[in-house]
Amino acid sequence: MTVKAHHKVLIIGSGPAGLTAAIYAARANLKPLCIEGWAAGGQLMITNDVENYPGFPKAITGPELMKEFRAQAERFGTVLVTADVTKIDFSARPFKAWVEDDLYTADSVIVSTGATARWLDLPSEKRLQGRGVSACAVCDGAFFKGEDVLVVGGGDTAMEEANYLTGLCNSVTLVHRRGEFRASKIMQTRALENPKIKVEYWSAVDEILGENAVEAVRLKNLQTGATKELKAGAVFVAIGHTPNTELFKGVLDLHDNGYIRTVPGTTQTNVAGVFAAGDVQDFVYRQAVTAAGTGCMAALEAERWLAANGPAH
Ligand code: NDP
Repeated sequence: MTVKAHHKVLIIGSGPAGLTAAIYAARANLKPLCIEGWAAGGQLMITNDVENYPGFPKAITGPELMKEFRAQAERFGTVLVTADVTKIDFSARPFKAWVEDDLYTADSVIVSTGATARWLDLPSEKRLQGRGVSACAVCDGAFFKGEDVLVVGGGDTAMEEANYLTGLCNSVTLVHRRGEFRASKIMQTRALENPKIKVEYWSAVDEILGENAVEAVRLKNLQTGATKELKAGAVFVAIGHTPNTELFKGVLDLHDNGYIRTVPGTTQTNVAGVFAAGDVQDFVYRQAVTAAGTGCMAALEAERWLAANGPAH
């Protein structure tokens, strides 16, 4: 086992939350280490144009935005390691994180490993990602103004996305695999009473059709096996996200849905000196700008915590 380095702040993950935490911690002269993950940059790396990140009135692509975040974090002295953390030990200070056999130790930790959108796992879905297939209506809905679109899923996210899209699109078809929604009553009612929303129950997306952009969808009725095609300019997959918290199970307190629990209004976890920022602890807003906001909070809280508690011995 090799002890690679000791840092005052260790940041795990490099989406908008992790890199914002890195920028703030680095500017506070804390020389943070950011283990950025093999999927560095997070969910924005699979997003085309980002039109709602303040400061970019002409839009910027997700990967371009993350390149700028990274450059800004590096400029102030963040040390970046491109690898996944494979094991952690937060039972005592210094906190420990391993990348295979390499051990990194730290006086404080910011966890910002994000969440991963669940997909239907169709080859056509992957091919058309960013060309009409999206997992975020708030991010991509505006590209499909006036079109007919589909939302897949029956939870609160699907209802919320469908309602949101009716403000932009000509029609929204909700496609759900069962005969009843899982979503809360109030969200269901709002969707069902919206005249622009149609529902296809007991249905699954069999194939997304289109060469370079989504043009239509083939739906399969799960009760009869019958298929039919629907014209659609976009498919919003809203079948849930999985928080990337596997490493922290049994160590950090998690909500029932797997997201990290933080003290309300802060990024503090149940382990003093360990903070969580971004989508790994947020199942409500899930925006780049809110992730960046909590990344900033985590760095400021870590800085204050280190000032009060000193380095690990
Ligand atoms: P959920 O897990 O609640 O719902 C996922 C939906 O997708 C379910 O209807 C499920 O179907 C369906 N689904 C899952 N896998 C597949 C698949 N492979 N193919 C087709 N359909 C599939 O996720 P949400 O993102 O909707 O919500 C996550 C959490 O966030 C919840 O706790 C929710 O309440 C909360 N939330 C709250 C909001 C609010 O209060 N404003 C807004 C958004 C989310 P089935 O029902 O058959 O399992």
